[in-house]
Amino acid sequence: MTNRFTRVHVVGAGMAGLAAAVRLADEGAAVTLHEAAPHAGGRCRSYVDATLGCRVDNGNHLLLRGNGAAMAYVAAIGAGATLSGPDEAAFPFLDRATGERWVLRPGRGRVPWWLLDKTRRVPDTKLGDYLDAVGLARASAAQTVTDVLDRNSILFHRFWRPLTVAALNTGPDEASASLLARVVAESFARGGAACRPLVPNEGLSESLVEPALAHLRRRGAELRFGARLRALETGDARVTALGFDRGNEILGGDAAVVLAVTAPVAARLVPGLVVPDEFRAIVNAHYRIAVPAATPLFVGIIGGTAEWVFRKRAVLSVTVSDADRLLDTSADELALLLWRDVEQAYGLPAQDVPPAQILKERRATFAATPAQDARRPPPRTRWDNLALAGDWTKTSLPATVEGAIRSGFGAAELLLGR
Ligand SMILES: Cc1cc2nc3c(=O)[nH]c(=O)nc-3n(C[C@H](O)[C@H](O)[C@H](O)COP(=O)(O)OP(=O)(O)OC[C@H]3O[C@@H](n4cnc5c(N)ncnc54)[C@H](O)[C@@H]3O)c2cc1C
Repeated sequence: MTNRFTRVHVVGAGMAGLAAAVRLADEGAAVTLHEAAPHAGGRCRSYVDATLGCRVDNGNHLLLRGNGAAMAYVAAIGAGATLSGPDEAAFPFLDRATGERWVLRPGRGRVPWWLLDKTRRVPDTKLGDYLDAVGLARASAAQTVTDVLDRNSILFHRFWRPLTVAALNTGPDEASASLLARVVAESFARGGAACRPLVPNEGLSESLVEPALAHLRRRGAELRFGARLRALETGDARVTALGFDRGNEILGGDAAVVLAVTAPVAARLVPGLVVPDEFRAIVNAHYRIAVPAATPLFVGIIGGTAEWVFRKRAVLSVTVSDADRLLDTSADELALLLWRDVEQAYGLPAQDVPPAQILKERRATFAATPAQDARRPPPRTRWDNLALAGDWTKTSLPATVEGAIRSGFGAAELLLGR
């Protein structure tokens, strides 16, 4: 098959742009990748933190083996060996109020036989409670999670709520039920094999960013950093030029563009584009402390301020999603508050707060509400040679690495004429 466009300018080197660039380069297109920042990775990357004196990830990103697009991307860039995880899907939890601990262990297959086994279920839940999932699967695009799930049930408190907040970065009273249903359909509904967690051996950049850049270089792609797109010039049917600080890039008839920038930037660049315009914060805390390798890779916390704690090589790292309520709390206060949760989760002796870095990402993702989901545009635009990519485009998933990569692949396929 001959490609519709033989040269493609990919703008934005987050997960969506990198995935688009990799797919296009692998299909023989001449790719130029333009990124405003001096580095690639966007909201999913690693860097050296000067306060802690070690390399950290900007946020804890958990991938699952069932993330089909992410797995295809990792295979394409030859980074499979840089990720690892447990042999079975096992999600350890702590209830901060009662001190109870449990491990949620979905069985390998699609038929959820594991729900018959009380020891694998969420404690104090009955088999019948899980029928809630049927209501979720039938939810309309206008419904929120609490429109279809019983917010007073134990299962809601210990499973549905934390899952919603972690996957959608939005509280269940306003989060889209159909987006949560999609997450469940692609994870728990496919059985434990699809839910096996995967984390980078080193860091996000070593697994998802650097190997992609190396792959693109090998394919002859041109990588331009510090290249902020300021304007798109459009004719009736096609984009005719890209305006950068260093000058204009005129597009010939064989040239196309994947715009893989953030939603607000895309809305400024593309006339008439409607995009999500509400966002939710994520707070991350990194504590410089080495924890024995025999402890869990991560722990979910119910009823604390910290929601997930991840054991990394040099740090224990905390995630709090849907965290706008914490934005005005000082870093010192947060470091102490979250550390108390970490101590209990990892059974550490009471001690002073270790060296900490608190990161508040105000616009971590778009708010995954029904109204915001309805504002997500498809990749196809009215200009024949312009495709959109990003976690905010219409992927049917919330803002995730899997959604971003899927959108990048989708935009590439569109320009390749498939
Ligand atoms: C703290 C945090 C924790 C997260 N945790 C998870 C998780 O556990 N699991 C999960 O799946 N997802 C998680 N996410 C979401 C995930 O990181 C995003 O969905 C994904 O990285 C988005 O990729 P993207 O390419 O769509 O956007 P971005 O990463 O935002 O990439 C856009 C790129 O475009 C560049 N750009 C912007 N304007 C211009 C311009 N004018 N010209 C050129 N370049 C431009 C930007 O610099 C950026 O590199 C988390 C996000 C955050 C912030």
